Amino acid sequence: MEKGDISPQKVRDFVADWPVYARDKDNPLWMQADELKAMQEHNLRRQLDLVAAFSPYYREVFRRENLAIEGIHRLEDLVRIPVTSKESYLTNPLAFLLVVDPPDPLDVTYEITYTSGTTTGAPAPFFNAAYDMYNISLQLRRMAEISWMTPEDTVVNLFPYGSLPHIGFYRTIHFASTVGMKLVNALVGKDVPGFPLHRSLDEALELVRIHKASVLAGTGHYERRLILRGEQTGADLSSLRTLMALGDTAPEGMRDEMREHLGGSAAEVFVNNGYILTECQGPFVECCEFGGNHNPAPDIYHIEILDPDSLRPLPDGEVGLLAVTHIDRRGTVLLRYVVGDLAARESGTCPYCGRSGSRLVVRMGSTYAVRAEEVIRVDGKLVNPEAVRNQLAGVRGMVEYQLVVEKEEPDNRFSPDRLIIRMSVAGRMRQDLEEEVVARVREATGIEPKVEFVQSPEIYDPTLALKATRFIDKR
Ligand SMILES: [Zn+2]
Repeated sequence: MEKGDISPQKVRDFVADWPVYARDKDNPLWMQADELKAMQEHNLRRQLDLVAAFSPYYREVFRRENLAIEGIHRLEDLVRIPVTSKESYLTNPLAFLLVVDPPDPLDVTYEITYTSGTTTGAPAPFFNAAYDMYNISLQLRRMAEISWMTPEDTVVNLFPYGSLPHIGFYRTIHFASTVGMKLVNALVGKDVPGFPLHRSLDEALELVRIHKASVLAGTGHYERRLILRGEQTGADLSSLRTLMALGDTAPEGMRDEMREHLGGSAAEVFVNNGYILTECQGPFVECCEFGGNHNPAPDIYHIEILDPDSLRPLPDGEVGLLAVTHIDRRGTVLLRYVVGDLAARESGTCPYCGRSGSRLVVRMGSTYAVRAEEVIRVDGKLVNPEAVRNQLAGVRGMVEYQLVVEKEEPDNRFSPDRLIIRMSVAGRMRQDLEEEVVARVREATGIEPKVEFVQSPEIYDPTLALKATRFIDKR
């Protein structure tokens, strides 16, 4: 699904054609902007009342900060509430669980998933009440609508069946169910001794083939491996039309590569690179490739982008720390929770599909979000090293290159970073090459790198290593 293939009218026709979507008259994504905002603020008010009464963590924060939360009515007023750090949550995840008293039948704890990818250690439980499960099912049906999936699809779930309940695996079950698709869970992953349950890549591939899967759900990297293996073994994968590449990044080159190896009619295959986070319980997805990652449930999750230094909200389009505020949850509830990823957002109607709510947009390389610690900070600008690498690939006369990031003042952890590009040259004037590289990087990132010329073996000595080290982080 390319940007040129879709229009708001085409999307509305698609929704009208499928009763499972057409009956969703309350879908917030089809509301006018002011109507949606009124709904979000109504939800926010109710959420804050519940939090003030039943959240052990926030009751303490409101008391300590002497915060009159009755005065918070608008989304813009949220800045009065301090941000919640990942550390606070990981230290005591139970303190974020609403203890509603007396509980409604839908307040019962239904399911626990776990946050993953934390650099600080143990995963933390995230609780869903029955109320949340129903809400998430609606969210996932809307996600499937954005992704052009239909009840005629057959999805193979390629997320690992791990020892911790993870949303990749479970939400695939839920989205297939809410739409009414056929679903095959491949149960990939590693066996635990005594439990011979998991399937290999070849076995998963066989399931894709015999069930004539039209949708794959998994990480882009696993799907890529499966496609390459399919090509090698001559498996017929011509039934595939959508690859839900969720969780890790699927840059442009990788998407094209997957299509290329699928061969045949694969030009039509939609590689949908979704951003998935436990705190939002499902993926943000694309309506068309690189069209932005839609928040499928602006009625449940409010997204802010914050300046990494001041933690003040940034305007649309600027890159900063992504923060999530729950506005309609009953289990674990987080306010202004800083996930640790950098992203940029756009609100307002999507120019491609016409839906409301906000979308994450590509500002760094060809990916939507990157872990904050992977990013370089130079002159107050945030740069994804991937964007620099993209610029350097294919510069004529450059034999080897390497990015080095270091602190301007090595002993000061708040010091800005400095980017040095080390490179070796053949068949071209050094000065000429330096000018081109500096201009390219400046154009792509807004920062001015320092260039150092070295001999190739200083970067990459094939007698010592199999691969060149392209990025050295000395911070
Ligand atoms: Zn869209």
